[in-house]
Amino acid sequence: MSEYKFNTKCVQAGYSPKNGEPRVLPIYQSTTYKYESSDEMGDLFDLKKNGYFYTRLQNPTNDAVAKKIAELEGGVAAILTSSGQAASFFSIFNICQAGDHVVASSALYGGTLNLFSVTMKKMGIDFTFVDPDSDEETLSKAFCDNTKAVFAETLSNPSLIVLDIEKFAKVAHAHGVPLIVDNTFPTPMNCRPFEHGADIVTHSTTKYMDGHATSVGGVIVDSGNFDWTKYPDKFACITAPDESYHGISYSETFGKAAYITKATVQLMRDLGSIPSPQNSFLLNLGLESLHLRVMRHCENAQKVAEYLEKHPKVTWVNYPGLESSKYHALAKKYMPNGSCGVISFGVLGGRAAATRFMDSLKLAAIVTHVADSRTCILHPASTTHRQLTDEQLVECGVSPDLMRLSVGTEDVSDIIADIEQALALL
Ligand code: PLP
Repeated sequence: MSEYKFNTKCVQAGYSPKNGEPRVLPIYQSTTYKYESSDEMGDLFDLKKNGYFYTRLQNPTNDAVAKKIAELEGGVAAILTSSGQAASFFSIFNICQAGDHVVASSALYGGTLNLFSVTMKKMGIDFTFVDPDSDEETLSKAFCDNTKAVFAETLSNPSLIVLDIEKFAKVAHAHGVPLIVDNTFPTPMNCRPFEHGADIVTHSTTKYMDGHATSVGGVIVDSGNFDWTKYPDKFACITAPDESYHGISYSETFGKAAYITKATVQLMRDLGSIPSPQNSFLLNLGLESLHLRVMRHCENAQKVAEYLEKHPKVTWVNYPGLESSKYHALAKKYMPNGSCGVISFGVLGGRAAATRFMDSLKLAAIVTHVADSRTCILHPASTTHRQLTDEQLVECGVSPDLMRLSVGTEDVSDIIADIEQALALL
């Protein structure tokens, strides 16, 4: 499919039926696979042959969808996970262990920040959080001898900070480590991080990729560009023999697919965070219209952001598509066709007025979700980010009055009318 354009890949990549096979990707709702001999199955366990034997490691429905996303991102291989959280965790845990260190942007989704600063810290992996707007020199100071990766969001949730991907990639590579980016908000439709030097991409597919709020899921995609063998001591987990897998060296045996193969056969084997094939089927349906939906989300969000910016009761609006945004120039560079459908803003009267405004909305629903077809709104400081201290809130760009509006694909005049009637009540 690599010869086709992005829109065509959204619809058809990942699954090409042969003569007489189902036109639509089938749901292989089977935990296991039958073989004629024990020897044949033994070869699969030894990774001497490629084939399915247990769905916790691989499943044809899941693999077809992973392949589609790898093509959309321009990577060599991908693995689906049961959630975006699992993708963030696996992406780092695949190359880090107790005693290692990671440099991460401070502008992260609250759940990711908690995963890194609390749960993974308990596992012995330390994180240093950096302001994504820092210059190269300041970023460099965050690195230690045991740093193994850099992690950031290409468009942060909910602060909508556009990452200078090239700056982060340059500093990460100068320190001999990969740049891992969470590309959930822009999706590969709007941002292609591998083209700017990122090495690994993660997503919460729960958001625009699924797009209909039906299935929690995640994905990790490898560009295949990071040369693990250049740093054999630092990344011995990929280059040296894995005694838990018959002494195999992932880089020697699987080349550019080493990182994803290791995540599949080692992490999925031991930690088992695969999606159900049914959810992957639904994700695939979402991906078939990703190019159409994301375009509409962005068009609608641009109009809503422009409307909000002019309204006297709105104190501030943050949307990278607005010329007033601090990140407008970076958005034009990295997301030239649009950023996403999410806008953050505040109203006169601060936090209390924000809650009253939200309660008055009729079309937009208050939900703990973002980036699906239905317009929705959330107050992060009292929900997704409520576990953070005031200091952490400021660090990750979330002010107490911030409302996160996820503009859907409805008629934009209905969305604006709903906002207007709620603002009139303030
Ligand atoms: N990354 C980003 C940018 C997110 O917004 C979220 C969830 O909101 C996650 C990761 C976690 O994904 P999930 O909810 O699918 O576990």
